[in-house]
Amino acid sequence: MSSIFQNKKFHNKSLMRIIFIFFFALVLVENAISQNSKEFINAAFLKKLNTDKSYSELKKKIISGFANTKAGQWGEFVTGVDEIIRTQKKIIAFTFDACGGKNGNGYDKELIDYLQNEKIPATLFVSGKWIDSQFNVFLNLSHDSLFEIENHGLNHRPCSVTGESAYGIKGTGDIGEAFDEIEASARKIEAITGHRPRYFRSATAFMDEACVTMAARLGITAVSYKVLSGDALPFTPAAVIEDNVVKKIIPGAIIIMHFNHPECNTKEAMQKIVPELREMGYTFVRLRDFELTSVNCTGKGKIIQKTDVHTESHKSK
Ligand SMILES: [Zn+2]
Repeated sequence: MSSIFQNKKFHNKSLMRIIFIFFFALVLVENAISQNSKEFINAAFLKKLNTDKSYSELKKKIISGFANTKAGQWGEFVTGVDEIIRTQKKIIAFTFDACGGKNGNGYDKELIDYLQNEKIPATLFVSGKWIDSQFNVFLNLSHDSLFEIENHGLNHRPCSVTGESAYGIKGTGDIGEAFDEIEASARKIEAITGHRPRYFRSATAFMDEACVTMAARLGITAVSYKVLSGDALPFTPAAVIEDNVVKKIIPGAIIIMHFNHPECNTKEAMQKIVPELREMGYTFVRLRDFELTSVNCTGKGKIIQKTDVHTESHKSK
């Protein structure tokens, strides 16, 4: 009897020890993650990068190389920016931005759940600011092979070498700031995920030609969009977003939407858009799996800025 009692006591002690070790390990892992996330915060990450020889030498080279380069056109579709997949097949790419900053740090979990449940591949353009506010969410998304992670700028500033603004958001002020916006963001994403982004969509999609050329020099393609969903304002009804997408869809279209506004109707619109596009024979792809271009296969030329009101709601500064 006493031996059974002792065994039980021993068993309870072992169980307590295992539970203690488990929770201790859990605390260690959580600490490690928050420790890691701290070193990736924009300001700390940039400070460290500036002491990195390869980064500072490349920055110097870019600054001197672009010293006499004119800013050129300013807009969403300037020369060198891609906006469509080169194809005549019925494929389209949903791209979702996460802008960060005031009013831009949210996470639309229901939308992402919908994409995952429906197995819809998508390209996620994330800014360094948004990563700072949603580090663990970002880490989880980056592990999901359904999604491609791309670059939406370090501080979510329109990319300019002369301090142009778009929709009330001040752009980068000079060549060095533009370089940081593109390259530091790319390095941050690579440092966290192990993958260097291939594409850069500037905040508000506005860029000047010098920034587009600079991105290309860094091995990064500037991407705008073909179809503007207008999803990023809370009062835009799902039916309007649905119409914006479905009525303007063409083979190869890159659609711009957001996944940082749970208060908006993006998911509700997607629940209508996806079955309709499937009915029309479209399938969904990520950008990285295809060649992009600036002019669609119908031969339509380029314009600098569309007349639509750009509703990216980039009041997040
Ligand atoms: Zn944005």
